[in-house]
Amino acid sequence: MTSQTKATTAELQALDAAHYLHPFTDHRQLGARGTRVIERADGVYLWDSDGNRILDGMAGLWCVNIGYGRIELADAAYRQMRELPYYNSFFQCANPPAIRLAAAIAELAPEHMNHVFFTGSGSEANDTVLRMVRRYWDIKGKPGKKTIISRINGYHGSTVAGASLGGMAPMHAQGDLPIPGIVHIPQPYWYGEGGDMSEEEFGLWAARQLEAKIHELGEDKIAAFIAEPIQGAGGVIIPPASYWPEIKRILAQHDILLVVDEVICGFGRTGEWFGSQYYDLQPDLMPIAKGMTSGYLPMGGVIVGDRVVEALSEGGEFFHGYTYSGHPVAAAVALENLRILREEGIVDYARNEAAPYLQGRIAELADHPLVGEVRGVGMLGAIELVKDKATRERFGEKGTAGGLCRDICVANGLVMRAVGDTMIMSPPLVISREQIDELVGLIRHCLDLTLEKLRV
Ligand SMILES: *Cc1c(COP(=O)(O)O)cnc(C)c1O
Repeated sequence: MTSQTKATTAELQALDAAHYLHPFTDHRQLGARGTRVIERADGVYLWDSDGNRILDGMAGLWCVNIGYGRIELADAAYRQMRELPYYNSFFQCANPPAIRLAAAIAELAPEHMNHVFFTGSGSEANDTVLRMVRRYWDIKGKPGKKTIISRINGYHGSTVAGASLGGMAPMHAQGDLPIPGIVHIPQPYWYGEGGDMSEEEFGLWAARQLEAKIHELGEDKIAAFIAEPIQGAGGVIIPPASYWPEIKRILAQHDILLVVDEVICGFGRTGEWFGSQYYDLQPDLMPIAKGMTSGYLPMGGVIVGDRVVEALSEGGEFFHGYTYSGHPVAAAVALENLRILREEGIVDYARNEAAPYLQGRIAELADHPLVGEVRGVGMLGAIELVKDKATRERFGEKGTAGGLCRDICVANGLVMRAVGDTMIMSPPLVISREQIDELVGLIRHCLDLTLEKLRV
């Protein structure tokens, strides 16, 4: 760590404070602390501008599935940028990488899903979802079916439609959201909200909130139900085993579209290509992004089921699209990402080796005095921090233990996120056994330090 790099960090922090408005950030707090400048990355590690190495337990923001530093993606972008850096997909045009990417994704998706609408992000994908489901029912001659049922504490992005579909109260409170026509039902968060119910009972109860809402509003008003297979940003909330089967039973009795938000679960996170395959769901629409390019370039999309495509095809022009829909460079990078995921067997590695090992190792943390529950599926994990294991009482105000633990993790070379008092992880799928051991060792060490501080 030379004084040269320190000067650079301070310089960058000053410029940052002066000019950079960050997403989801309290700027007064950031100004006081100074931003952490991440300079480079390789595999599962990041380096900050002071030369500190950090194990990235979040794969960026749930997206760097193949790990950092894959030159092949840089080469794919370089080649495509020289050949055709941009052209649009409006006006009956397309480009080779976008066409090939749509075909490659259709091959991986559930059998009845064979088309892809491209966007620039997951939020845009969910804006497309809102417009597409309403358009679908218009064409079907049922324009009254407009309302979308979503879930409290779900996350579907940060645009107006994305934040409205999401169920994050602090987001709704800033700017009169949700927009009309979106309603929210309780989430299947057993550890936090299950009370005296067994996990199985609570899963059924939460699923039946959907049925109750359909009856309350009337099926002729409901366009779709949207949900993440496993809530990510909400705190890696893994529904009880009874939940999805009951949702499927309810949907089978009603003419309502199912939108499964695969932005996190898609592209291998659960050990299957899609969370819908993990839970055996039959969605009509699947928003995707994040792992689609492993985050190397921004890109999203909506995988569209056959019955929606058939309706859209009957309906004439759908007045919707983005300048960067099917961007050739992003598509070339996504294709290369898919090639690597497939040819290197990374999804199989996640399912058969990394996930069982990760889940086994983090389960050991349940014996820690600070830990109320450890849960996980595939390459997703969560650790609930509590003061009292028996009553699930937390330390002080919500987020006290979580915020402290997160800061201690970063200071000790580990990125984990805190959602309230839930520590969450989502490492790159390529993480090795030795690196999982390192991850779990760091977590235990940081839990010790957190407990020490909390006890003072
Ligand atoms: C991240 C996320 C989004 C939003 O994606 P952006 O690319 O940030 O717009 C939507 N849905 C889910 C489930 C997500 O995790």
